[in-house]
Amino acid sequence: MHVLVVGGAGYIGSHMVKLLSQRGCEVTVLDNLSGGYRDAVLAGRFVLGDLGDADLLEALFQSERFDGVMHFASHIQVGESVREPAKYYRNNVFKTQHLLDTMVSHQVKPIIFSSTAAIFGEPIRVPIDEEHPKNPINPYGRGKWMVEQMLRDYEVAYGLKAICLRYFNAAGADPAGELGERHEPETHLIPLVLRAAAGRQPRVTVFGADYDTPDGTCIRDYVHVTDLCEAHWLALRHLWADGESAAYNLGNGNGFSVREVIDTARAVTGREFAVEYGERRPGDPARLVADSRRARSELGWEPRHAELATLIGHAWRWEAR
Ligand code: UDP
Repeated sequence: MHVLVVGGAGYIGSHMVKLLSQRGCEVTVLDNLSGGYRDAVLAGRFVLGDLGDADLLEALFQSERFDGVMHFASHIQVGESVREPAKYYRNNVFKTQHLLDTMVSHQVKPIIFSSTAAIFGEPIRVPIDEEHPKNPINPYGRGKWMVEQMLRDYEVAYGLKAICLRYFNAAGADPAGELGERHEPETHLIPLVLRAAAGRQPRVTVFGADYDTPDGTCIRDYVHVTDLCEAHWLALRHLWADGESAAYNLGNGNGFSVREVIDTARAVTGREFAVEYGERRPGDPARLVADSRRARSELGWEPRHAELATLIGHAWRWEAR
């Protein structure tokens, strides 16, 4: 089977390319390297280019027969999406629509789409199941939710088949140490904590310690990147086996506070580092935890690295490299 991985040079996409090639798939990566790295693509054919390049996309779909598409290429910073909504809607929505149109015209039907917990906005109940109301509170979340809805309409009208995977907090790194998280600038908690542990930055700032949680800091559901990739693989196989289009929330169902992440990082790395307490970051809900029972029962998904210490340990091996 031949899979087109759009955004395959990025954090989650690069882990996916490795897994697909291990599972015997032929892989083509399309990436503009705006956030990814050529050397993170460990297998397959690499095509440098942008999703919005109509000629390139048309030529690619004419030259290859794809059995499915995985779409990871998106901008991911919530704060930036508020400051630069045009950038987010252009890339994450309009260029994605262009990909879908090209798939339709070449009759490539299965797509696995990277969605996000941000489509839910401020939760009204936790853990968050798939039916939880969708009230995204920033352009990043709104764009992802728009694409989810577009995919449903494209199925009804054009027969596209889609699985939307709503990641909670993707974290960790390839257990073999070949790949990891390389965002620049980095905004995510675990890599920032590990940079502080490695002495690459002076301290960690905790964004708010006055939330209504047991220790006052925000609780998130950290899910290992290779577990996420396994879910993509199961989702694609589900569509290949004529399974229904669907959306799944992906997390461990375990929430950890910012303080717990910091304490675990100290224990795993054996390093001390400075921690300061700052203001809340606008738009951060107190608690985001996934109810992933649907992915478990319908896809047979079973996260293998649910322990926070394991996840941080893999990320640390990458960071310390
Ligand atoms: N966070 C923090 N300090 C940082 C980065 C993040 O306290 O330097 C907190 C953030 O407020 C949130 C949690 O860590 O409660 C996870 O944030 P991250 O940006 O990793 O992921 P998000 O939940 O925004 O997807």
